[in-house]
Amino acid sequence: MKTMTCRQLGGPCDLGLRGETADDVIKAQDRHLKDAVKGGDPAHEQAHQDMKGRWRHPVASMGWYRDTKKAFAELPED
Ligand SMILES: [Zn+2]
Repeated sequence: MKTMTCRQLGGPCDLGLRGETADDVIKAQDRHLKDAVKGGDPAHEQAHQDMKGRWRHPVASMGWYRDTKKAFAELPED
């Protein structure tokens, strides 16, 4: 398992998101953003919109996805 923070994934806080793969942590971040916004946290609103935009425009988001996968690959296992 590896851990990336909300901030590393484009969000505003330092919550750690754990997963076996980059896709796992991206999905965890997606859930975290949804929960934060639903809970009335305006700080996560922009990151939530960005993430929704990525699902809608996957080709345009390839750069972000590639960077995130690379950052994940370079992390130590924990
Ligand atoms: Zn967060």
